[in-house]
Amino acid sequence: MLAQHVGAPARPVVLVGQKVKKGELIAAAHGNISAPLHASTSGTISAIGEITAPHASGLPGMAISIDADGDDAWLESERVSDPFALSPGEIAARVAAAGVVGLGGATFPSSVKLNLGRRSKIDTLIINGSECEPYLSCDDRLMRDRAADVVSGIRLMLIATGARQARVGIEDNKPEAIAAMREAVRRFGEIIVELVPARYPMGLLPLEMSARIRHGEMESAVALGLSDCIACGCCAYVCPAHIPLVQYFYHAKGELSARQRTQLRSEATRKMAQARQERLEREAREKAEAAARRKAERSAQQAALKTVAVAAAVTRIAAGESA
Ligand code: SF4
Repeated sequence: MLAQHVGAPARPVVLVGQKVKKGELIAAAHGNISAPLHASTSGTISAIGEITAPHASGLPGMAISIDADGDDAWLESERVSDPFALSPGEIAARVAAAGVVGLGGATFPSSVKLNLGRRSKIDTLIINGSECEPYLSCDDRLMRDRAADVVSGIRLMLIATGARQARVGIEDNKPEAIAAMREAVRRFGEIIVELVPARYPMGLLPLEMSARIRHGEMESAVALGLSDCIACGCCAYVCPAHIPLVQYFYHAKGELSARQRTQLRSEATRKMAQARQERLEREAREKAEAAARRKAERSAQQAALKTVAVAAAVTRIAAGESA
């Protein structure tokens, strides 16, 4: 699928019939918020076009199809000997080229966040090692099994963002992950593991939210906790009626952010109009003040000339009398 991330869909850079290796670029990022796609296996490009999206909505979506050759052969690529010697820009560029996006549900391109350090100074990088729902265990498992890799990733993010330190929040009900991460960060004083209490968003009512969204009642969906929904898909997975709940939530979030953008645009237009009005009034005021100043200067000049003329006349008369 060309849209596996938020932002603009990727654009195909391959042709039907072309042979590709696993990991080869098949669609390039397009726009500021986008991510490229790479071949998931080796084979021949068999189609580029709409397919039924592999999600419960069954809606069509643009995709590149590969006729797998069964070899699953990787594209040869150059490895970086020392990733920690890369510059912040190089790290972000490599993450962008790899098509890395967030896996928390929003699928936001990671390189955009890594580049934030260029725009504003970042002091602390917060690493969310908490699960957002009971029974989720992917972060827990990752920290237990790959703590050293997680710490390497954090160190690279520190370089890329220019942040001074990183704080890793792990829920206090994950003792194995806490121990593994504490051991892994021992040599790196700039990374601190923090215990946080286990809390989960409560009261999310997926069916009720989807019903409100169907009726266009976005605000009531928000009141029911739409903003806390991470679109993990668990509710849709267990829904006996196979309602495409997550697609409703995506739609509603898109609709709400479009409304917010419109609101921000009108607010910006209103502020611009107000600033223009204030500027025009200020210019008119300054013009009137300058005209009044000039008039006063002219009157003062005329008065001075008059005084000089009178004094000259008096002098002349006095001179005539004495003669
Ligand atoms: S997709 Fe469903 S289960 Fe997952 S966070 Fe949203 S409402 Fe909860």
